Amino acid sequence: MSTTLKAVRGTRDLLPPETALWERVERIAREVFARYNFGEIRTPVFEDTQLFARGVGEETDIVAKEMYTWEDRARAQSEKAQSLTLRPENTAGVVRAYIEHKLGDSGLLQKLYYIGPQFRRERPQKGRYRQFYQIGAEIIGPPSSGSESPLRDAEVLEMLATLLDELGIKGWTLTLNSVGSSSDRPRYIAALKEALAPVKDKMCVDCQRRAETNPLRVLDCKHPEDQPIIETLPRIADYLDEASRTHFAQVLAGLDACGVKYTVNPRLVRGLDYYTRTTFEFTVETGLGTQNALLGGGRYDGLSEMLGGPKAPGIGFAIGEDRLILILQAQAGDAAAPKADAYIAPIGEAQNAYALALARELRRAGLTIETGDGSARLKKSFETADKLARNIVLVGEDEAQSGILTVKNFAAGEQTKIPRAELASALKVS
Ligand code: AMP
Repeated sequence: MSTTLKAVRGTRDLLPPETALWERVERIAREVFARYNFGEIRTPVFEDTQLFARGVGEETDIVAKEMYTWEDRARAQSEKAQSLTLRPENTAGVVRAYIEHKLGDSGLLQKLYYIGPQFRRERPQKGRYRQFYQIGAEIIGPPSSGSESPLRDAEVLEMLATLLDELGIKGWTLTLNSVGSSSDRPRYIAALKEALAPVKDKMCVDCQRRAETNPLRVLDCKHPEDQPIIETLPRIADYLDEASRTHFAQVLAGLDACGVKYTVNPRLVRGLDYYTRTTFEFTVETGLGTQNALLGGGRYDGLSEMLGGPKAPGIGFAIGEDRLILILQAQAGDAAAPKADAYIAPIGEAQNAYALALARELRRAGLTIETGDGSARLKKSFETADKLARNIVLVGEDEAQSGILTVKNFAAGEQTKIPRAELASALKVS
């Protein structure tokens, strides 16, 4: 006997009616992005492994432990085997595309958004998957396009606040920080290393390693026992130069002017190496425990150059769509599945063709219609219709001949006769 196959651990099928919520979220996201004049970019789901090694950073958990990487075999003598990776995030791909297509040559800011799957080999749990979806956006361009302006940071954050409000997410918190420019960072990292040297042996094994390889990541440690030590470490805010301090103050002033509430957290560093200056997270208190980070992002002024491109400062974010959906479901309770406007039940197979033509007419008028089959017993048709639709339209021989349909509205419990020409408008309101 053959074993049944299942979706791979950490991946899942999304099914109706839940997919209606995914569609709604994506529609609202597209509408909001359009109002801020963003255009959609679609990059491949796999890329050269080097892109992530260089762009995201060798020392990050993502690159060190979580990537799906394989050696892609050469199919012809002329081809070389190549190390490929399923994208664990989309910013590196967007910046690669920006460089490859010379988007900076227009001299204009590029405002790009994406919606799509990402892949990380993490330990699966509720809200954490190996194939998950992100909705993200990036603003990137040559410095002359204004890409470095703190107005961009504030605008992105204000757009996110608007998006979450329009999606109906309640109780979100914006936390932000400045992790400094590429000239502030080395001074801070040196200070961190020095402060960590005498205490690192008391910390978790990850921190002991990070203290040497990537001290900034120590601040990201979630181990409760390490927190008192982390509290005593130097703060990045004390190592920002005048330009970084002013930039951050202007981002905050922009948020104040728009009335977007925030908290500054001097420990917020985030997991990806490419961030400079503004970094941020939006969290929502739900039953999701430690997985309450709904979205994260920040500035990556040096990323394009790290990938061999021109100077192209940028800022972006990625929303975890799976978590967004979980939060919406938790906050909305069990909302009833949407129902069709009408179920058309032919009585006798001779009425099937009439029913189909009637369904076509109503669907073209914008209604959502289900159709039955004339062989079904009437009682069964009523039961099915009640599950799927708000109304049942009966098509018997009389109805087909007279063009006067029998309609029952389930909520009202009433049966009425409606001429075919008036049916669409009657069903729209009932
Ligand atoms: P990051 O790309 O790590 O900054 O993550 C941005 C957002 O993507 C997070 O705030 C999460 O909401 C979401 N996310 C990251 N990893 C996963 C995962 N394995 N499963 C589901 N969502 C994720």
